[in-house]
Amino acid sequence: PYAPFAPPEKQRNPNDPPLPRQNVKVAPPSPPRVITDKSRTVQFTRVSMLGEGGFARVYEVMDARGRRAACKVVTKASLKTKKAKTKLYAEIKIHRSLDHPNIVRFQDCFEDDENVYMTLELCHNGSLMDMLRRRRRFTEPEARFFMVQLIGACQYMHTHQVIHRDLKLGNIFLDKHMNVKVGDFGLAALIENPGERKKTICGTPNYIAPEVLFDTANGHSFEVDTWSIGVILYTLVVGRPPFQTKDVKAIYKRIRDNEYEFPEDRAVSPHVKDLVQQILTPNPAARPTLYEIVEHPWFSVVPMPGYIPSTAHDGAPNFS
Ligand code: ADP
Repeated sequence: PYAPFAPPEKQRNPNDPPLPRQNVKVAPPSPPRVITDKSRTVQFTRVSMLGEGGFARVYEVMDARGRRAACKVVTKASLKTKKAKTKLYAEIKIHRSLDHPNIVRFQDCFEDDENVYMTLELCHNGSLMDMLRRRRRFTEPEARFFMVQLIGACQYMHTHQVIHRDLKLGNIFLDKHMNVKVGDFGLAALIENPGERKKTICGTPNYIAPEVLFDTANGHSFEVDTWSIGVILYTLVVGRPPFQTKDVKAIYKRIRDNEYEFPEDRAVSPHVKDLVQQILTPNPAARPTLYEIVEHPWFSVVPMPGYIPSTAHDGAPNFS
């Protein structure tokens, strides 16, 4: 059988985040309007809700000096098991250790009786997933702009021994200048010993590398992020993920068989096709390195915009 593990529940949307931290029902957090860090008497006022996922809700908050931030709130009720606590601590430990212009900055973390709070750099322009929904697909100059920043962030993570393991459009945020900010370190792993392999099956179905699913004996490492970057590039220029199909099992089968194609009706450049094909190499050891990826001709042939105008939110910008 191609699935060497119990398949996830059938009704999963393959673009959705992985399963929540525990399989028990817990009410989502409902933090007070004024959130207080008692240990340092810092206060934040809730402004609006930005989104939710797993057991977390993310709010836009404002401090006493009017500075805005995003605040990720996790209820303590969802942290009853040791496993759930360990996972949240791992996310915090990894995220707060990272400092890069294309990674959502981790500002602070504190708690009250009900919740754990993490304040993060606010990304005003939502995620690339939200933007793709409005735009349907991106131009290749835009894709190049986003890819350069994403690969820079990923290179930084990897040199700091961090594998993100859930790179996807929904976890790539945009700040007010439309710069990329990689977020959500909920599945990230730290490689503590050189050559160490990870064995946990995790990720989001559409973006998951074949070795995570089918080489569970050997495990996986940094190359899983490279695979996701290939899926992201395809998705940016085509408008939907390469292995997308009706159910998760069928997606896994297509990933196993490396079965995807470029639709005839979308004018995608031969360079981008070649690059995607190179990145989506099933054998992780044969996959190009991040350095080799940015050396690909696509990165020099397609014009590189100096910045993306915020009007790109709703319509293709004209870079000529
Ligand atoms: P989870 O780990 O539970 O999936 P995420 O960290 O992905 O949670 O956040 C859930 C949602 O909250 C995101 O999809 C996004 O809409 C919003 N969000 C998260 N972080 C930020 C941020 N820094 N700035 C703006 N919105 C954010």
